[in-house]
Amino acid sequence: MTQPLPFIDLAAQQARLGDRLRLAIDTVLREGAYIMGRQVADFERELAEFCGARHVISCANGTDALMLPLMAWGIGPGDAVFVPSFTFIASAEAPALLGATPVFVDVQPETFDIDPASLHGAVAHARSLGLRPRAVIPVDLFGLPSDYDTLLPLAEDLGLLVLADAAQGFGGAIDDRRAGTFGQATATSFFPAKPLGCYGDGGAVLTDDDQLATRLRSLRFHGKGQDKYDNVAIGLNSRLDTLQAAILSEKLAIFADELAARDRIAARYTAAFQDRCPNSIITPTVPAGYQSAWAQYTLRVAQRDQMMAACKEQGVPTMVYYPIPLHRQSGYAHYPQAPLGCPVSEHLAAEVVSLPMHPYLGEQDQSRIIDVVCSAVEKTI
Ligand SMILES: *Cc1c(COP(=O)(O)O)cnc(C)c1O
Repeated sequence: MTQPLPFIDLAAQQARLGDRLRLAIDTVLREGAYIMGRQVADFERELAEFCGARHVISCANGTDALMLPLMAWGIGPGDAVFVPSFTFIASAEAPALLGATPVFVDVQPETFDIDPASLHGAVAHARSLGLRPRAVIPVDLFGLPSDYDTLLPLAEDLGLLVLADAAQGFGGAIDDRRAGTFGQATATSFFPAKPLGCYGDGGAVLTDDDQLATRLRSLRFHGKGQDKYDNVAIGLNSRLDTLQAAILSEKLAIFADELAARDRIAARYTAAFQDRCPNSIITPTVPAGYQSAWAQYTLRVAQRDQMMAACKEQGVPTMVYYPIPLHRQSGYAHYPQAPLGCPVSEHLAAEVVSLPMHPYLGEQDQSRIIDVVCSAVEKTI
Protein backbone atom coordinates (compact mmCIF):
# COMPACT_ATOMS: atom_id res chain seq x y z
CA MET A 1 0.00 0.00 0.00
CA THR A 2 1.21 3.55 -0.74
CA GLN A 3 1.62 6.14 2.05
CA PRO A 4 -1.63 7.27 3.69
CA LEU A 5 -2.55 10.84 2.67
CA PRO A 6 -3.02 13.60 5.27
CA PHE A 7 -6.57 14.91 5.80
CA ILE A 8 -5.25 18.47 5.86
CA ASP A 9 -1.65 19.50 5.18
CA LEU A 10 -0.56 22.40 7.35
CA ALA A 11 3.10 21.55 6.75
CA ALA A 12 2.81 22.43 3.04
CA GLN A 13 1.49 25.88 3.93
CA GLN A 14 4.23 26.34 6.51
CA ALA A 15 6.87 25.45 3.93
CA ARG A 16 5.38 27.99 1.52
CA LEU A 17 5.44 30.77 4.11
CA GLY A 18 8.92 29.75 5.26
CA ASP A 19 11.11 32.66 6.40
CA ARG A 20 8.29 35.20 6.46
CA LEU A 21 6.65 33.28 9.29
CA ARG A 22 9.87 32.98 11.27
CA LEU A 23 10.60 36.67 10.76
CA ALA A 24 7.14 37.64 12.02
CA ILE A 25 7.52 35.42 15.10
CA ASP A 26 11.04 36.72 15.80
CA THR A 27 9.79 40.30 15.61
CA VAL A 28 7.19 39.59 18.31
CA LEU A 29 9.84 37.92 20.48
CA ARG A 30 12.18 40.86 20.02
CA GLU A 31 9.52 43.48 20.78
CA GLY A 32 8.12 41.51 23.71
CA ALA A 33 4.53 42.86 23.61
CA TYR A 34 2.88 39.44 23.94
CA ILE A 35 -0.57 40.75 24.89
CA MET A 36 -2.23 43.31 22.59
CA GLY A 37 0.99 44.16 20.79
CA ARG A 38 0.84 46.31 17.66
CA GLN A 39 0.49 43.16 15.49
CA VAL A 40 -3.00 42.61 16.94
CA ALA A 41 -4.26 46.00 15.74
CA ASP A 42 -2.48 45.50 12.40
CA PHE A 43 -4.13 42.14 11.85
CA GLU A 44 -7.57 43.47 12.86
CA ARG A 45 -7.23 46.26 10.28
CA GLU A 46 -6.08 43.84 7.56
CA LEU A 47 -8.93 41.44 8.27
CA ALA A 48 -11.48 44.27 8.16
CA GLU A 49 -10.07 45.37 4.80
CA PHE A 50 -10.15 41.82 3.47
CA CYS A 51 -13.85 41.30 4.06
CA GLY A 52 -15.23 44.83 4.11
CA ALA A 53 -16.39 44.81 7.74
CA ARG A 54 -16.14 48.14 9.59
CA HIS A 55 -14.77 46.67 12.83
CA VAL A 56 -12.81 43.56 13.72
CA ILE A 57 -12.48 42.67 17.39
CA SER A 58 -10.09 39.76 17.76
CA CYS A 59 -10.42 37.41 20.74
CA ALA A 60 -9.14 34.15 22.20
CA ASN A 61 -11.15 31.63 20.14
CA GLY A 62 -14.24 31.17 18.00
CA THR A 63 -16.42 30.11 20.91
CA ASP A 64 -15.68 33.40 22.71
CA ALA A 65 -16.37 35.20 19.42
CA LEU A 66 -19.90 33.76 19.65
CA MET A 67 -20.23 34.55 23.37
CA LEU A 68 -19.08 38.17 23.19
CA PRO A 69 -21.86 39.61 20.95
CA LEU A 70 -24.49 37.66 22.92
CA MET A 71 -23.04 39.18 26.13
CA ALA A 72 -22.98 42.64 24.54
CA TRP A 73 -26.67 42.27 23.68
CA GLY A 74 -27.44 41.25 27.28
CA ILE A 75 -28.74 37.82 26.27
CA GLY A 76 -29.27 35.48 29.21
CA PRO A 77 -31.88 33.54 31.20
CA GLY A 78 -35.36 33.56 29.63
CA ASP A 79 -33.99 34.38 26.18
CA ALA A 80 -34.21 32.00 23.22
CA VAL A 81 -31.35 31.79 20.72
CA PHE A 82 -32.04 29.78 17.58
CA VAL A 83 -29.29 27.46 16.41
CA PRO A 84 -29.19 24.87 13.62
CA SER A 85 -28.95 21.34 14.99
CA PHE A 86 -26.44 20.23 12.35
CA THR A 87 -23.28 22.11 13.39
CA PHE A 88 -20.33 22.04 15.78
CA ILE A 89 -21.30 22.18 19.44
CA ALA A 90 -19.86 25.68 20.05
CA SER A 91 -22.78 27.29 18.15
CA ALA A 92 -25.15 26.14 20.94
CA GLU A 93 -22.61 26.17 23.77
CA ALA A 94 -22.24 29.97 23.67
CA PRO A 95 -25.91 30.81 24.40
CA ALA A 96 -26.17 27.90 26.87
CA LEU A 97 -23.16 29.17 28.87
CA LEU A 98 -24.89 32.54 29.23
CA GLY A 99 -27.99 30.89 30.68
CA ALA A 100 -30.04 31.52 27.54
CA THR A 101 -31.98 28.69 25.91
CA PRO A 102 -30.65 27.37 22.61
CA VAL A 103 -33.61 26.28 20.48
CA PHE A 104 -32.68 23.77 17.80
CA VAL A 105 -33.76 24.42 14.24
CA ASP A 106 -33.54 22.00 11.30
CA VAL A 107 -31.36 22.56 8.22
CA GLN A 108 -31.88 22.31 4.47
CA PRO A 109 -30.83 19.02 2.85
CA GLU A 110 -28.93 20.56 -0.09
CA THR A 111 -26.91 23.35 1.55
CA PHE A 112 -26.91 22.09 5.18
CA ASP A 113 -27.79 25.63 6.34
CA ILE A 114 -30.59 26.71 8.68
CA ASP A 115 -34.10 26.15 7.28
CA PRO A 116 -36.22 29.36 7.33
CA ALA A 117 -39.50 27.42 7.67
CA SER A 118 -38.15 25.49 10.64
CA LEU A 119 -36.89 28.76 12.17
CA HIS A 120 -40.35 30.28 11.84
CA GLY A 121 -41.92 27.36 13.68
CA ALA A 122 -39.22 27.35 16.35
CA VAL A 123 -39.78 31.03 17.16
CA ALA A 124 -43.52 30.47 17.69
CA HIS A 125 -42.75 27.41 19.81
CA ALA A 126 -40.24 29.33 21.96
CA ARG A 127 -42.86 32.03 22.59
CA SER A 128 -45.40 29.41 23.61
CA LEU A 129 -42.85 28.18 26.19
CA GLY A 130 -42.63 31.69 27.66
CA LEU A 131 -39.17 32.42 26.22
CA ARG A 132 -38.17 35.72 24.62
CA PRO A 133 -36.88 35.13 21.04
CA ARG A 134 -33.70 37.26 20.83
CA ALA A 135 -31.20 36.02 18.25
CA VAL A 136 -30.46 33.48 15.55
CA ILE A 137 -27.03 31.99 14.84
CA PRO A 138 -26.93 30.87 11.18
CA VAL A 139 -23.87 28.66 10.61
CA ASP A 140 -21.89 28.80 7.37
CA LEU A 141 -21.33 25.08 7.57
CA PHE A 142 -18.34 23.58 5.74
CA GLY A 143 -17.58 27.05 4.33
CA LEU A 144 -20.79 27.85 2.46
CA PRO A 145 -22.48 31.12 3.50
CA SER A 146 -26.03 30.64 4.82
CA ASP A 147 -28.92 32.00 2.74
CA TYR A 148 -28.66 35.52 4.21
CA ASP A 149 -30.86 37.06 1.50
CA THR A 150 -33.76 35.08 2.97
CA LEU A 151 -32.58 35.02 6.59
CA LEU A 152 -31.87 38.72 7.18
CA PRO A 153 -35.37 40.01 6.31
CA LEU A 154 -36.95 37.01 8.06
CA ALA A 155 -34.95 37.69 11.24
CA GLU A 156 -36.01 41.33 11.12
CA ASP A 157 -39.67 40.30 10.82
CA LEU A 158 -39.25 37.91 13.74
CA GLY A 159 -37.44 40.53 15.83
CA LEU A 160 -34.21 38.51 15.99
CA LEU A 161 -30.62 39.73 15.99
CA VAL A 162 -28.40 37.81 13.55
CA LEU A 163 -25.05 36.50 14.75
CA ALA A 164 -23.43 34.72 11.80
CA ASP A 165 -21.21 31.78 12.75
CA ALA A 166 -18.50 31.97 10.08
CA ALA A 167 -15.97 29.84 11.99
CA GLN A 168 -15.88 27.64 8.88
CA GLY A 169 -17.18 30.18 6.39
CA PHE A 170 -14.68 33.01 6.67
CA GLY A 171 -13.47 33.65 3.12
CA GLY A 172 -16.85 32.73 1.65
CA ALA A 173 -19.01 35.24 -0.22
CA ILE A 174 -22.41 35.90 -1.74
CA ASP A 175 -21.85 37.82 -4.97
CA ASP A 176 -19.34 40.49 -3.92
CA ARG A 177 -20.29 40.51 -0.23
CA ARG A 178 -17.85 38.57 1.91
CA ALA A 179 -18.60 36.59 5.08
CA GLY A 180 -18.16 39.00 7.98
CA THR A 181 -20.66 41.51 6.61
CA PHE A 182 -23.95 39.60 7.06
CA GLY A 183 -26.19 40.30 10.05
CA GLN A 184 -25.47 42.47 13.10
CA ALA A 185 -22.27 40.57 13.91
CA THR A 186 -20.17 37.67 12.65
CA ALA A 187 -18.06 35.30 14.72
CA THR A 188 -15.08 33.48 13.27
CA SER A 189 -12.37 31.11 14.49
CA PHE A 190 -8.66 30.79 13.75
CA PHE A 191 -8.40 27.23 15.09
CA PRO A 192 -5.59 25.63 13.04
CA ALA A 193 -7.90 23.49 10.87
CA LYS A 194 -10.20 26.35 9.82
CA PRO A 195 -9.70 27.94 6.38
CA LEU A 196 -7.77 30.84 8.01
CA GLY A 197 -6.07 29.19 10.98
CA CYS A 198 -3.29 30.19 13.37
CA TYR A 199 -0.92 27.98 15.40
CA GLY A 200 -3.11 27.73 18.46
CA ASP A 201 -6.48 29.21 19.40
CA GLY A 202 -7.84 32.48 18.09
CA GLY A 203 -11.06 34.14 16.99
CA ALA A 204 -12.67 37.42 15.98
CA VAL A 205 -15.98 39.24 15.92
CA LEU A 206 -16.77 41.38 12.87
CA THR A 207 -19.41 44.09 12.85
CA ASP A 208 -20.41 47.37 11.23
CA ASP A 209 -22.05 48.59 14.45
CA ASP A 210 -19.84 51.22 16.17
CA GLN A 211 -21.51 50.92 19.56
CA LEU A 212 -21.37 47.15 19.54
CA ALA A 213 -17.68 47.28 18.59
CA THR A 214 -16.92 49.50 21.60
CA ARG A 215 -18.74 47.12 23.93
CA LEU A 216 -16.97 44.10 22.43
CA ARG A 217 -13.54 45.71 22.94
CA SER A 218 -14.45 46.23 26.58
CA LEU A 219 -15.95 42.77 27.13
CA ARG A 220 -12.96 40.88 25.70
CA PHE A 221 -10.75 42.71 28.26
CA HIS A 222 -12.52 42.08 31.62
CA GLY A 223 -15.20 44.68 30.80
CA LYS A 224 -12.69 47.52 30.96
CA GLY A 225 -13.71 51.16 30.82
CA GLN A 226 -11.17 53.98 30.51
CA ASP A 227 -8.36 51.58 31.43
CA LYS A 228 -8.03 48.03 32.61
CA TYR A 229 -8.50 48.88 36.29
CA ASP A 230 -11.79 50.64 35.51
CA ASN A 231 -14.36 47.86 35.02
CA VAL A 232 -17.71 48.91 33.61
CA ALA A 233 -19.09 45.45 32.80
CA ILE A 234 -18.54 41.78 33.60
CA GLY A 235 -16.37 40.58 30.75
CA LEU A 236 -13.92 37.86 29.78
CA ASN A 237 -10.18 37.49 29.46
CA SER A 238 -10.36 36.84 25.73
CA ARG A 239 -7.61 38.40 23.65
CA LEU A 240 -5.81 37.16 20.57
CA ASP A 241 -2.12 36.54 21.38
CA THR A 242 0.25 38.92 19.61
CA LEU A 243 2.17 35.90 18.29
CA GLN A 244 -0.97 34.47 16.71
CA ALA A 245 -1.88 37.86 15.20
CA ALA A 246 1.58 38.08 13.60
CA ILE A 247 1.21 34.56 12.19
CA LEU A 248 -2.30 35.33 10.92
CA SER A 249 -1.12 38.44 9.05
CA GLU A 250 1.30 36.28 7.07
CA LYS A 251 -1.40 33.70 6.39
CA LEU A 252 -3.94 36.35 5.39
CA ALA A 253 -1.53 37.59 2.72
CA ILE A 254 -1.90 34.26 0.84
CA PHE A 255 -5.50 33.54 1.87
CA ALA A 256 -7.19 34.72 -1.36
CA ASP A 257 -4.84 32.52 -3.36
CA GLU A 258 -5.58 29.57 -1.05
CA LEU A 259 -9.33 30.12 -1.41
CA ALA A 260 -8.96 29.98 -5.18
CA ALA A 261 -7.01 26.72 -4.86
CA ARG A 262 -9.68 25.22 -2.59
CA ASP A 263 -12.32 26.20 -5.12
CA ARG A 264 -10.39 24.59 -7.97
CA ILE A 265 -9.95 21.38 -5.99
CA ALA A 266 -13.64 21.28 -5.01
CA ALA A 267 -14.68 21.81 -8.63
CA ARG A 268 -12.46 18.93 -9.73
CA TYR A 269 -13.91 16.60 -7.06
CA THR A 270 -17.46 17.51 -8.04
CA ALA A 271 -16.89 17.07 -11.79
CA ALA A 272 -15.20 13.69 -11.25
CA PHE A 273 -17.88 12.30 -8.90
CA GLN A 274 -20.73 13.51 -11.11
CA ASP A 275 -19.05 11.89 -14.07
CA ARG A 276 -18.00 8.61 -12.49
CA CYS A 277 -20.40 7.69 -9.70
CA PRO A 278 -23.42 10.01 -9.92
CA ASN A 279 -25.84 7.42 -8.54
CA SER A 280 -24.02 6.60 -5.34
CA ILE A 281 -22.70 10.02 -4.26
CA ILE A 282 -24.41 13.37 -3.65
CA THR A 283 -21.90 16.18 -4.20
CA PRO A 284 -22.11 19.49 -2.28
CA THR A 285 -24.45 22.18 -3.60
CA VAL A 286 -23.18 25.74 -4.09
CA PRO A 287 -26.04 28.08 -5.09
CA ALA A 288 -25.43 30.52 -7.97
CA GLY A 289 -23.50 33.60 -6.82
CA TYR A 290 -22.20 31.82 -3.69
CA GLN A 291 -18.55 31.26 -2.94
CA SER A 292 -17.70 28.59 -0.37
CA ALA A 293 -14.52 28.78 1.71
CA TRP A 294 -14.44 24.95 1.48
CA ALA A 295 -13.57 24.32 5.11
CA GLN A 296 -14.70 20.80 4.25
CA TYR A 297 -15.62 18.99 1.06
CA THR A 298 -18.57 16.89 2.18
CA LEU A 299 -20.40 14.15 0.29
CA ARG A 300 -23.56 12.26 1.14
CA VAL A 301 -23.38 8.49 0.71
CA ALA A 302 -25.86 5.83 1.80
CA GLN A 303 -23.43 3.11 2.97
CA ARG A 304 -21.06 5.47 4.75
CA ASP A 305 -19.36 3.13 7.20
CA GLN A 306 -18.39 0.60 4.54
CA MET A 307 -17.24 3.39 2.22
CA MET A 308 -15.05 4.91 4.96
CA ALA A 309 -13.54 1.54 5.85
CA ALA A 310 -12.70 0.85 2.20
CA CYS A 311 -11.05 4.30 1.87
CA LYS A 312 -9.04 3.79 5.05
CA GLU A 313 -7.74 0.49 3.74
CA GLN A 314 -6.40 2.37 0.71
CA GLY A 315 -4.75 5.10 2.78
CA VAL A 316 -7.39 7.77 2.10
CA PRO A 317 -8.58 9.42 5.33
CA THR A 318 -12.21 10.53 5.64
CA MET A 319 -14.03 12.22 8.53
CA VAL A 320 -17.62 12.60 9.70
CA TYR A 321 -18.67 16.15 10.57
CA TYR A 322 -20.95 15.67 12.50
CA PRO A 323 -22.09 12.22 13.63
CA ILE A 324 -24.62 13.42 16.26
CA PRO A 325 -26.92 16.43 15.69
CA LEU A 326 -26.98 18.83 18.64
CA HIS A 327 -30.58 18.10 19.69
CA ARG A 328 -29.45 14.48 20.25
CA GLN A 329 -26.36 15.34 22.32
CA SER A 330 -26.83 14.16 25.90
CA GLY A 331 -25.71 17.53 27.31
CA TYR A 332 -28.21 19.39 25.12
CA ALA A 333 -31.18 17.06 24.54
CA HIS A 334 -33.25 18.85 27.21
CA TYR A 335 -33.38 22.09 25.16
CA PRO A 336 -36.40 22.75 22.92
CA GLN A 337 -36.43 22.16 19.18
CA ALA A 338 -38.55 23.25 16.23
CA PRO A 339 -42.13 21.85 16.34
CA LEU A 340 -41.44 19.35 13.56
CA GLY A 341 -38.13 18.26 15.10
CA CYS A 342 -34.89 18.15 13.12
CA PRO A 343 -35.30 15.14 10.78
CA VAL A 344 -32.99 16.54 8.07
CA SER A 345 -30.19 17.03 10.62
CA GLU A 346 -30.60 13.40 11.71
CA HIS A 347 -30.54 12.18 8.15
CA LEU A 348 -27.43 14.18 7.30
CA ALA A 349 -25.61 13.02 10.42
CA ALA A 350 -26.04 9.46 9.12
CA GLU A 351 -24.91 10.18 5.55
CA VAL A 352 -22.22 12.86 5.44
CA VAL A 353 -18.55 12.14 4.92
CA SER A 354 -15.78 14.67 4.33
CA LEU A 355 -12.76 14.10 2.08
CA PRO A 356 -9.25 15.53 2.34
CA MET A 357 -9.43 19.24 1.44
CA HIS A 358 -6.65 21.81 1.67
CA PRO A 359 -5.10 24.28 -0.79
CA TYR A 360 -1.99 22.15 -1.30
CA LEU A 361 -3.75 18.96 -2.40
CA GLY A 362 -1.94 18.06 -5.64
CA GLU A 363 -3.69 16.68 -8.71
CA GLN A 364 -2.08 13.26 -8.41
CA ASP A 365 -3.16 12.80 -4.80
CA GLN A 366 -6.59 14.08 -5.67
CA SER A 367 -6.91 11.58 -8.53
CA ARG A 368 -5.99 8.82 -6.11
CA ILE A 369 -8.68 9.98 -3.66
CA ILE A 370 -11.28 10.13 -6.45
CA ASP A 371 -10.38 6.59 -7.64
CA VAL A 372 -10.50 5.16 -4.13
CA VAL A 373 -13.80 6.87 -3.24
CA CYS A 374 -15.51 5.81 -6.48
CA SER A 375 -14.44 2.18 -6.16
CA ALA A 376 -15.40 2.21 -2.46
CA VAL A 377 -18.96 3.39 -3.14
CA GLU A 378 -19.36 1.02 -6.08
CA LYS A 379 -18.45 -1.89 -3.84
CA THR A 380 -21.11 -0.89 -1.34
CA ILE A 381 -24.15 -0.70 -3.66
C1 LIG B 1 -14.71 25.68 15.15
C2 LIG B 1 -16.08 26.19 15.27
C3 LIG B 1 -16.47 27.03 16.33
C4 LIG B 1 -15.60 27.35 17.51
O1 LIG B 1 -14.34 27.81 17.26
P1 LIG B 1 -13.16 27.60 18.34
O2 LIG B 1 -12.12 28.53 17.88
O3 LIG B 1 -12.75 26.17 18.25
O4 LIG B 1 -13.70 27.95 19.68
C5 LIG B 1 -17.76 27.55 16.31
N1 LIG B 1 -18.62 27.22 15.34
C6 LIG B 1 -18.31 26.39 14.35
C7 LIG B 1 -19.32 26.11 13.29
C8 LIG B 1 -17.03 25.82 14.28
O5 LIG B 1 -16.73 25.00 13.26
